[in-house]
Parts: sequence; C-alpha cells; structure tokens
Amino acid sequence: MEYVCIVCPNGCRLTVEPTQEGVVVKGHKCPKGEAYGRDEFIDPRRVVTAAVRTSDASYPFAPVKSDRPVAKKDVDAVLRHLYRLTVDLPVRRGAMCCTDCCGTGASIVFTRTLPPSSGGGAP
Ligand code: SF4
Repeated sequence: MEYVCIVCPNGCRLTVEPTQEGVVVKGHKCPKGEAYGRDEFIDPRRVVTAAVRTSDASYPFAPVKSDRPVAKKDVDAVLRHLYRLTVDLPVRRGAMCCTDCCGTGASIVFTRTLPPSSGGGAP
C-alpha cells in the first residue's frame, strides 16, 4: 500500500508492505513517519470533527470533536449519530456531548463555548 505521510509538511511518500518479519515501511525520513505508515496500514484512525445542531437559532450549530482518534471504519457511524443530535444551549468548551460514541470508546466534546439560549427556536 502507498500513503502520503501527513505528520509533517514534508509529505513523504510511504510504501507499506506486510512481510514474514512484520509490516515494513519504506520512504519515511523519520521514526514518526514509520509509525504513521504502520498505524495507517494496521489500524487507521481519525479524529472526528463535526457540528451538532442546537435548539437556538442564534447559534444553530455547536462544533465538536472526538477526544481521541476513532477507527476509520467507525467514522461514518459517528458522524451519522452526531448529525441526528440536537443540543440545548449553553454548552461549554471541553464539556461532554456524547460518551462512548457508537461504542467506539471515544467521547465527543464541544470545542467552543456558546452562551445560554436567547429564546429563539431552531430554524
Ligand atoms: S516521514 Fe517524517 S519527515 Fe516525512 S512527512 Fe512523515 S513525519 Fe515528515
């Protein structure tokens, strides 16, 4: 498999192959790139970022992210779940929006503080 390392702006082109001695990474210029290639091949994960609806028209969306990388195969399920949610204001940056989201073990936290509802309903 071929990947572009995204750990730093160099963007090294990695080739990753399974061998009898284990997964071999080529093309990296540093140990971080080797680890990235191995992880990407064995268990690719992503931090999920999204915006959930609020019940207030003044701030219709609240930005959120996962507190740890989620297995790539589970990202769609997490996003579908988050896009169905509606939260009430206020929300505080760092506060929990959803725990163990979709059984991934990752919690979803708000990344911005939004003030109490101004009384306007959702659009
Ligand atoms: S392998 Fe190392 S130098 Fe190359 S992009 Fe990845 S982190 Fe940067």
